[in-house]
Amino acid sequence: MSKFWSPLAASLIPYVPGEQPKDQTYVKLNTNENPYPPSPLVLNAIKDAANGDLRLYPDPTCSALAEKAAAYYGVQPNQVFIGNGSDEILAFAFAAFFSPSNRPILFPDITYSFYKVYAALYGIPYKTVPLDEEFRVPLDAFDEPNGGIVLPNPNAPTARYIETERFRGVLDWNSDSVMILDEAYIDFGGKSGVELVAEFPNLLVVHTLSKSRSLAGLRVGVAIGHPDLIEGLNRVKNSFNSYTIDRLALAGAAAAFDDRAYFEETTRKVIATRERTDAGLKQLGFRVIDSSANFLFAEHPDHPAAGIFQGLKQRGVLVRYFNQPRIDNFIRISIGTDAEMDTFLRTLEDVLRQDGGSAEA
Ligand SMILES: *Cc1c(COP(=O)(O)O)cnc(C)c1O
Repeated sequence: MSKFWSPLAASLIPYVPGEQPKDQTYVKLNTNENPYPPSPLVLNAIKDAANGDLRLYPDPTCSALAEKAAAYYGVQPNQVFIGNGSDEILAFAFAAFFSPSNRPILFPDITYSFYKVYAALYGIPYKTVPLDEEFRVPLDAFDEPNGGIVLPNPNAPTARYIETERFRGVLDWNSDSVMILDEAYIDFGGKSGVELVAEFPNLLVVHTLSKSRSLAGLRVGVAIGHPDLIEGLNRVKNSFNSYTIDRLALAGAAAAFDDRAYFEETTRKVIATRERTDAGLKQLGFRVIDSSANFLFAEHPDHPAAGIFQGLKQRGVLVRYFNQPRIDNFIRISIGTDAEMDTFLRTLEDVLRQDGGSAEA
């Protein structure tokens, strides 16, 4: 607490990102980063952009990148918004489409924890929709008057995917409110809802280059929606900061869309490693939720997750543990390289053996 904080700053409960520890080298499977480096085209484009032009402001409209992204998604450039990571897009979207004086917005009870944080920041009321026992999203429950909807697909941290076609009903019922579809993990096996954008002016689809394009460190996200929604995002952006994407990020992100072959190859590898890891976990007695993402969500019937998390960490393997109701017996494991996942499974076996099935680890 500080007397200098505004009542708003004092009231916030900020989001806590996964650790980026500096104390030792870990097999780092805790923040859903891609284990493969970005495409060589991306690195070259960034190197080329590192020149005297950095004295100049970047293009505030990101037009070259927006055109690339539009071509990739099969939409018009005025249906594309570029953000400094999809987190920034979400922050702008909450301000642009949701309101403190409107009905509560709806999102699942188990989901990306940033949604609550943005709602609190802007004073937007929200109501959570409980997932079923299998962590499926009951889409019928979104059929109630609301001030907006936020759904990640696949969901985080459960990794579960909803068939994109099933959103038609929700979008129809909620034609007076905006639905944000957060597709951070869609490239790992799902079908994007971008194709619904032409039909539903209330749908904003949000993508990130952080996961499937190995660019978490560059900070670029893309939103696709009706031009009116994009204009709403631009109104908010230009009331904060007109230059959210720097010259290096603009160059690197454009090159990422150029190298489709590399993107498809690394994504395919992550999916194959996920399936191997899923089988390995089941062999060790874990219950693993079906994943369409670059991570797995798993629990063991005899070994508490908190102990597994600690045991892995002591042995140099970092996964994510959420000490939250309903999911406090699960660990979330980001998919690394095959070698990293072999180390993970071997270490995990050791942890389970030492634990001996007791509550203590
Ligand atoms: C990782 C993630 C994001 C944020 O991605 P950035 O583009 O790196 O800001 C947004 N939503 C979900 C569900 C995520 O998992």
